[in-house]
Order: sequence, then C-alpha cells, then structure tokens
Amino acid sequence: MRKKKKLALLLITAALILALAVIALVFVFEGSQRADRISSYMLSLEHERPEIQQHFQDDSHGVFLPWPITLIIDPGHGGIDPGATISDFVIDDQRISMKESDITLSVAKMIKQRLENVYQDLTILLTREEDRYMSLEERVILGNSLFSDEGEKAFFISLHVEHSFDSNNSGMEILLSREITHDSPAFLLAESIVSGFNDIFGEALPFRGIQTENIYYPSRVNMPSLIVNLAFLSNVNDRALFYYNLESFAAAIVNGVKEYCKQ
Ligand SMILES: [Zn+2]
Repeated sequence: MRKKKKLALLLITAALILALAVIALVFVFEGSQRADRISSYMLSLEHERPEIQQHFQDDSHGVFLPWPITLIIDPGHGGIDPGATISDFVIDDQRISMKESDITLSVAKMIKQRLENVYQDLTILLTREEDRYMSLEERVILGNSLFSDEGEKAFFISLHVEHSFDSNNSGMEILLSREITHDSPAFLLAESIVSGFNDIFGEALPFRGIQTENIYYPSRVNMPSLIVNLAFLSNVNDRALFYYNLESFAAAIVNGVKEYCKQ
C-alpha cells in the first residue's frame, strides 16, 4: 500500500511539473510573438532622418526694403483647438505625439526671428504668441487692426498642417482666394514661397500646387492673404520632416518672402 501511495504521489508531482513546464513554454512563446508584433509595429511607423539640402540664403542684416512691409503671420489653431493631431508614433525609439497648433506656432516664431534679423523696415506680427484658442473671426479683426498704415504693404500668411485618411498624401500646398489674378501681390508672394520651399526641400517634400478656393480669410482680411499648408501630419515622411527639420519650414517661407521683396 505504501509503495502504491508513494508511486501515485510521484506520478502526480511529475504531472504537475510537466503541466507547469507547458504553461511556462506557452507564456514565453506568446510573449515573444507579442514582442515581435510590437517591434514590427514600431518599425512600420519609424522613419529615418530625411536628407535635406540646406540651401539657407546668407542671412544679411539691416537690409532696407524698397517700401515698408508688414507681415502678419497667423499660426493656425491653438488652445482647446489643436487642429490635426497624431499620437504614439515612433521616431528615434521614442513614442511621439504632435499637434498642428504647436507646429504652426513654432514655425511662426522662427519666421519672425529670422526675418527680423534681416530687414530694418519689415514689421512682423503674430496673431497669437502662445498656445491659446482664437476664433477665425478674432484673427481677422486682430489682423486688420495690426495693419493700419496705408503707406505700407501688408500680407496675411496663415500657417496650417494637413491631415488625410489616405496616408500617402504628402507635401506642401498654398491656398488663395478664387478671385485672385496671376499678377496680384498674393499670387506673386505664393510663387516666391513655392520657390523658397523648392530651395530648401527639393524632392524631400512634394509641391501640391497653388489652389484657389473659397477660403475664409481673403474676403475678410483687408490685405493680400494666403494659407500655407506646410505638410501632412498623416504622412510618415512629412512627419519626419516636422520632427527633424521644423526650422526648414520657417527657412523656406523666409526665403520666399526675401525673394518676393527683391522684386
Ligand atoms: Zn488647420
């Protein structure tokens, strides 16, 4: 009897050990599969640092313009309205989130700083300087009140970032009012900004064209105005440009304004 009991105990122990070993193996296998899934997910969202030819023009200082110019830069969105957002994508092994309102504000501040260093008689004003909500109407009223001197030329440049359900959509585009003609100041400035982008980004960022649409600002702002859609937050290449080369977007617009001022 004793022998039988011992044997039974031994068998039960062996069965238990075997069961535990099987459970452990299943866990390890599942875990490694999960890790594989996560790393392939991370890889699919990761992007290498883009190659960009940095053709920044020489930043001359204290240059006078043929006439004074006021540039009102309007960083789109802000505060409770972040605009386009993207969260949890991986760059440099870090999980990153980005929002349109931050990108437009940073680029606007960089443009202001760069252009103020170059021109004596260029006034640059931002519709917002911090992360706060502003309605479109408020921006128009502020823009119109900032530009008051009739002897000056002024431009209203609104900065935005695109987002599309088709993640292949990529590149920069400029929106102008439908009524615009090809010799109007807004169109000429738009063309200069396009060549500014081409100088800086080359083929790293496609150009989607100068579009004419029924847009909010031009009919309400009392100066030539345009909207620059810098790139697509939903595109992995464009996103990498925002992450690694944000300053290049400012430089592209600065180069465009400089080219316009030469005309
Ligand atoms: Zn926007």
